[in-house]
Amino acid sequence: MKLSFERSVPGRRGCRAPQSAAPHAAIEESLLRKLPPRLPELSETDVSRHFSELERQVYGVNDGFYPLGSCTMKYNPAVNEQAASLEGFSGIHPLQPVESAQGAIEALVRAKELLCQLVGMDEMTFQPAAGAHGEFLGLLLIKRYHEERGDCARKKIIVPDSAHGTNPATASMAGFTVINIPSAQDGTVDLAALRAAVGPDTAGLMLTNPNTLGIFDKNILEITDIVHGAGGLCYYDGANMNAVMGAARPGDMGFDAVHLNLHKTFSTPHGGGGPGAGAVGCKECLTPYLPNRLPVRLADGTFGYADSEHSVGRMKFFCGNFLVVLRALTYITMLGGDGLQEASENAVLNANYLRALLKSELPAANEGFCMHEFVVSLESLKKETGVSAMDVAKSFIDAGMHPPTMYFPLIVHEALMFEPTETEGKETLDAAAEAVRNILARAKTEPEALHLAPVTTPIGRPDEVGAARNPILRYDFTEADQ
Ligand SMILES: *Cc1c(COP(=O)(O)O)cnc(C)c1O
Repeated sequence: MKLSFERSVPGRRGCRAPQSAAPHAAIEESLLRKLPPRLPELSETDVSRHFSELERQVYGVNDGFYPLGSCTMKYNPAVNEQAASLEGFSGIHPLQPVESAQGAIEALVRAKELLCQLVGMDEMTFQPAAGAHGEFLGLLLIKRYHEERGDCARKKIIVPDSAHGTNPATASMAGFTVINIPSAQDGTVDLAALRAAVGPDTAGLMLTNPNTLGIFDKNILEITDIVHGAGGLCYYDGANMNAVMGAARPGDMGFDAVHLNLHKTFSTPHGGGGPGAGAVGCKECLTPYLPNRLPVRLADGTFGYADSEHSVGRMKFFCGNFLVVLRALTYITMLGGDGLQEASENAVLNANYLRALLKSELPAANEGFCMHEFVVSLESLKKETGVSAMDVAKSFIDAGMHPPTMYFPLIVHEALMFEPTETEGKETLDAAAEAVRNILARAKTEPEALHLAPVTTPIGRPDEVGAARNPILRYDFTEADQ
């Protein structure tokens, strides 16, 4: 499709502004542009059609099934958007006097209290803008905890090999050495390997439970005990809480800090690169180190901010992305405790239902039930037909669905990871299973065709590495002028 610059016609315009009655200001010659800005010149119709065309090339949850595992691409109720766009919340400024922003600070405090209750933590900050940003803060808290106790030899963070890639990345950014431990045969933490890894140099453990294979680690209490016994702290990657909300709490599992992706589980759309919130909750032993400007209830019943001289510093300005927190608060309040638990139960039920429908065609990477997502291996399909997990994933697009997550977690060969989420109905899951069966049948009869998928989109298979390493983000006018 053409860019707006390529559609541009000199002299064309969308609207005509009335002549201003204000006197012209004299601007110094040196401050003036040499050339007028090269904006596309288009009529309002041109602009409107341009954006409609762009919109038609995008696929979102509103278009159909979007089982992208570990990302929680679910439908988010419109009422939460409405709450976030209320003028009283969207039209205020963080530098307003505290007395004039009591409602907004109360919303932050109430969100914090509810989320702390949900994860079993004592205090929470909303400053980090994303999950990885929250992990980074969580590790800084752990680092400061050991430093303030004069326990300076603790430089190692233990991370299981099934972890999300952000875990080892943030641990090394925070100045720790990452110790990778293998998973046991059934995909859970290998206890013997963990016992061998901990010691006086252990700062802590990072874990997600259920893990990226969608398995709830039944040894979780023993795991956190082993780490605490060695003097380390336990960090819970709570990016995806929709398997356990209202059913199990990281605080009760023995974790000392946790981040929540409000932009996955708590009703802000994830994946568009828009604003997020990696809320970080912690137990009392870590609260003095949280970023300052912590929204709190004051003794006189009003709301304000608290600062601590032991704080690790600021992660982001003010209280982070306030409207994301507001959506989470609305979501939690609308559902209530029972509703949150029901959402978790449906997320787990949907994943197990789809897994069972696909079982005979696509063997799951592990035995037993899964939580909110599951992983299948296409290794034998690849050996038999040459059709890879990538080919199957791309064929989803031609079938009118978004592909599942590919090649993650790294410990499963030719992996596809499905997360149907709690917001899909049975008909959608049945149709998805049928589409997968059709794709797999085609893999046996016409494997070459699947190597070419998708064929129904404006472009087929872009050079993904090239696009990431050498992105072309600027319009080149010199070429257009020739
Ligand atoms: C999404 C995710 C993250 C990272 O969250 P971002 O907001 O993308 O930085 C971390 N851990 C897990 C398990 C995730 O699924």
